Amino acid sequence: MLMTTLMCGAMSIVMFSVYRSFRREVHGLGHWSAGLLLLVLASFLFNMRDSWPDAVALLGANTVLMLGIGLSMLGTEKFYGQGPSLRCYALACGLGVAGIAWWLLVTPDFSRRVAVFSFIVFFFYARQAQLVFAHGERHFSSFFFGALMLLQACVVLLRGGMALWHGGASVDLTVAGTQASIYLAVANFMALLLTVGFMTVATRRLQTILERRSTHDPLTQVLNRRGFGDVYEREKANLRRKGQPLTLLSIDLDFFKSINDRYGHAMGDKVLAHVARIIGGALRDTDCVARFGGEEFVVLMPDMAPHNALGVAERIRTLLHEPNGHGLPPCTVSIGVACQASVLEELDQLLSRADAALYLAKENGRDRIECDVLSVTVVRTMSAAGSDTGR
Ligand code: GH3
Ligand code: MG
Ligand code: MG
Repeated sequence: MLMTTLMCGAMSIVMFSVYRSFRREVHGLGHWSAGLLLLVLASFLFNMRDSWPDAVALLGANTVLMLGIGLSMLGTEKFYGQGPSLRCYALACGLGVAGIAWWLLVTPDFSRRVAVFSFIVFFFYARQAQLVFAHGERHFSSFFFGALMLLQACVVLLRGGMALWHGGASVDLTVAGTQASIYLAVANFMALLLTVGFMTVATRRLQTILERRSTHDPLTQVLNRRGFGDVYEREKANLRRKGQPLTLLSIDLDFFKSINDRYGHAMGDKVLAHVARIIGGALRDTDCVARFGGEEFVVLMPDMAPHNALGVAERIRTLLHEPNGHGLPPCTVSIGVACQASVLEELDQLLSRADAALYLAKENGRDRIECDVLSVTVVRTMSAAGSDTGR
C-alpha cells in the first residue's frame, strides 16, 4: 500500500509535468494529476486511523478518496470533450460523504459504509468506461484503458454487493487474511494501472496531434508539402500495382499580393482558407489538396485521367467566381494540369510540369487552365479514342 501510494504520488508529478507542457492540446491531465495527489492524501489519512478520531481520519480518508477518483472522472470527461459534469460530481460526493458520515458516526454500520463508498466510486469508474467506449479512438490504448475501467467498475460493484449481502466481515480490509490481502494488492495495483491507462490514451492523443501538425497547414487545415509527399508515395504505389492514371493540379491565386495590399494580411489569410475550402469541396474523397507555401495549392487526383481532371479544375475556377457570402474580396486562380507520365517519374518532375502549365496559364492572361504538353497528348488521344478511364 505504501509503495502504491508513493507510485501514485510519482505518477501525479509525471501527469502534472505533461499537463504543464501540453495543457492546450490534451485536456484532463490536470484533473487526473490532482486526483492522484488526493489518493496520496487519502492513504495518509487512512494510516492515521488509530491516532486520530474517526470523524477526521476515516471520514476524511473516504471523502478525499471519493473526491480523488471523481476528479479522474472529470479529467476523462474533459479529455473526451464532454462535460465536465460538476453537478453530478458534487452530488455523488455529497451523497457519499453524508452516507458514510451517518453510518460511521450516527449509527455505525461498516457494511453499509462500504456499500455507499463502493456504489459512488462504481459510478465514477463506470462513467469513464462508458466515455472510452463511446468516444475513444479505435486503438489499443483505448481498449486497454476502457477494459481496465470496466474491470475496476465491476470489482467495486462486487465489493459493494458483497458488503450488503454477506456483511461487513466479508469486505473488511483491515482484518488480516488472504482475501483482504488479495483485494488490497489488486486495488492498489489497479490504481496504478488506471493511471498508466490514462497516460497511454493521453500519449496517443498527443502523438496524433503532433503527427497532424507536422503534415497539415495550420491556416487552411489542408496537407502541407510533407503530408502531400506521403500521400503521393502511397498513390504512386497504387499506380505501380493497378496502372491507374494519376493527375496533379497546380493552383495559384491571381494577383494575391494586391488583395493583401488592399484589404490587409488578415483578410488575405481568410481568402486563402476560403480557397482551400472551395478546392476541397470540389474534390472526391480519394483526392487530396495541399498548400505548398504562400498562395499555391496542389491537388492530387488518383485514378483520374487528365481530361476528367480538366473538368474538376474548371469546377474550382467557376466556384471561385460565385459570390462567397462571407464578405471576402473576389479572387481568381490559374491552374496547371499534369498527369503522371510513368512510374519512373518522381514528384519533383511531375510538379515542375504542372508548374510549367501554370506559368503558361499566367502568361495567357490568368483565371484560366492549361495542360502541360505531355498531358495534352494524352487528352487528345483519349478524346479521339472516346475512352473514359477516369470518373
Ligand atoms: P500572380 O498572379 O503572378 O501569382 O501574382 P501574385 O500577387 O499572386 O503573386 P506574388 O508571388 O507576387 O505574391 C504572392 C503574395 O502572397 C505575396 C505574399 O505576401 C502573399 N502571401 C504569401 N503567404 C501568405 C500568407 O500566408 N498569408 C497572406 N495573407 N499572404 C501571403
Ligand atoms: Mg499568385
Ligand atoms: Mg505564387
